[in-house]
Formats: sequence, C-alpha cells, structure tokens
Amino acid sequence: MKAAVVRKGTDGYADIVEKQLRPIRSNEALLDMEYCGVCHTDLHVAAGDYGDKTGTVLGHEGIGIVKEIGEEVTSIKIGDRVSVAWFFEGCGHCEYCVSGNETFCREVKNAGYTVDGGMAEQAIVTADYAVKVPAEIDPIEASSITCAGVTTYKAIKVSGVQPGQWQVIFGAGGLGNLAIQYAKNVFNAKVIVVDINQEKLDLAKKMGADAVINSMNIDPVTEIKRITGGLGAQSSIVTAVARIAFEQAIKCLKPMGKMVAVALPNSEMSLSIPSLAFDGIEVAGSLVGTRLDLSEALQFAAEGKVKPIVKTRKLNEVNDIIDEMKNGQVEGRMVIEFNL
Ligand SMILES: [Zn+2]
Ligand SMILES: [Zn+2]
Repeated sequence: MKAAVVRKGTDGYADIVEKQLRPIRSNEALLDMEYCGVCHTDLHVAAGDYGDKTGTVLGHEGIGIVKEIGEEVTSIKIGDRVSVAWFFEGCGHCEYCVSGNETFCREVKNAGYTVDGGMAEQAIVTADYAVKVPAEIDPIEASSITCAGVTTYKAIKVSGVQPGQWQVIFGAGGLGNLAIQYAKNVFNAKVIVVDINQEKLDLAKKMGADAVINSMNIDPVTEIKRITGGLGAQSSIVTAVARIAFEQAIKCLKPMGKMVAVALPNSEMSLSIPSLAFDGIEVAGSLVGTRLDLSEALQFAAEGKVKPIVKTRKLNEVNDIIDEMKNGQVEGRMVIEFNL
C-alpha cells in the first residue's frame, strides 16, 4: 500500500512510498483509509521540529473503514468508520488516563509522530482508542473534526464559558473558524473574533461572530471592553501564534476571567502578577481532546451545528499541499482522498 512518510533528512517534505504493514495484534484493527487531512503539525513533524521521524507515516486527521480486527477487539467491528487522531493511545492506568485527562498521559502515543499515522491507504490502530464516526457526518468533514474540531471544542470546554457570556477568539484561521461555530452553536456564547486578516474576519462574521476586530487598525483590548460594556470578556481562546495575541487575550478579560492557550508559538509571554491576584485571572492550556471529547465534537458536527471548510486532494499532491500551506495559500483544510 502507498503511504506518505517523513523524508530522510527531514527537509519538511514527504515521500510517497510502498509500505508493507505488519500483521495486526489482538487488540488492534486494520483500516482501509478513506481520507486524511494535512495539518500544520504534519509540517513540523516532516521538518524534524519535534525530532527526526524519518520513515514515519504522517497524518493524524484520518478517517477509515475497519477491515480487520484482532481477536480481543469488542469496541469496534468490521465495516465501522473510525478516526486516526493525534491522541492515538494512552497507557490506560496512570492518574491522567483514569481521570479523564488521557491526552496528558506521559506514555501517550501520537499518530503520525510516535507511531505511523493515517496518511496511507491502510493504517493500524489500537481498537479501543479509535473513535467511531457517526453515519450522518460527511467523512471528509469528519477528518477536520478529528484534529481542529476537537481541539477547539475542548478548549471552549476548558474555558468554562456559560450561555450568553462573552468569549473572545484570537485567530480566525482553520482553528478559529471551528472555534466560532462551537462557541456560538453549541455553547451559546457571545463571540468576538480578533485577527489581522480582514478576509478571515469577514468569514468569521458570516460564521456567526457577534463582533469582529481587525487588530491591525484598532486596539482589541479597548474595543473588547467597549463591546462588552466596560469590564471585558469572561473568557478568551488563543488560536493565533503571535505572542501579542496571548497578552491581549489576558488583558481583555473581566475579573475572574479565563484565558485558554491552544496555538503553539515557540515563545514566552509576559503576565502581570498583580492582575492575576487582584483580578483572579486564570490562565490555562488545552491539548487536543480525549476520546469522549472527539466523540462529542463529531456528534455536534453530525447534527449540522459545525461545518469545517474542506477540499479533497490526491495523495501524490502532498508536497504541493505542504508548499501551499507554507505560503499561506490554503483556505480551509486540504484532505487527501485515498480512492482518487
Ligand atoms: Zn492536526
Ligand atoms: Zn496514562
């Protein structure tokens, strides 16, 4: 079968190779892959930013049909449609795994990074960790929920936002776009979106944002305080990689507000310690989502509350997609279709 693997020398690109999969173990399943989205994390892995992963099959936004199951498997059956997500497997018994925080397991395995991922015609998954995809959702769109969708859904959960409260989303790109939809259509929040790209802000408005702010032209902190009636927003989610966005995301909060960091810039940020104490500000991080989070995120998409922007491509176009993503030419998510 054909697979997109990290190229030797980790120059940021993939090689399409013929690969023979090992036989599945008793707790595993073999999938015939239908779709796999290309994520910025794949670009980091291919570039060796998280270590040399030469030869590893990329991809953690995979959707496939179960073709074969090991003898111990009871959670999924042949013919089921399931996901290959970044959270591939936890140890199952540490304090994080047993408390519903399995993505923080210290022995976690990640698809397309520590283990072979879904950017291939076939993939092997640990059956109990493969999340079922509801029949009502378009599998192309489901691939985006597997990463960007669950990541933003979980971050909003972590923010603790209540219906009617103001939430600010920094960054209106792929993650931000889904965050707006979950915040509005699932959590019933009032949403303000901040970005420097007017086209993305116009799209955010179409997606239902209550207000949008172009931070190139106007100070978002002052504007957010004005829109929310003086005190600021209850919570903020940062999907933008600019450090200033993280600092603004704290300054725009009302007392006892909470900022949730999702984007991963390789930098530090400054924090006013007195403001943390006097205003009871909380700062939190959020990392993808658990199996339950993914299952919920998929269900909301199946109900039509959330719709990712996707486009299908061929496997042999993967390096073109990587170039387009590096050049910022991609709108929505590029999804590789395996029977094309
Ligand atoms: Zn991803
Ligand atoms: Zn664990």
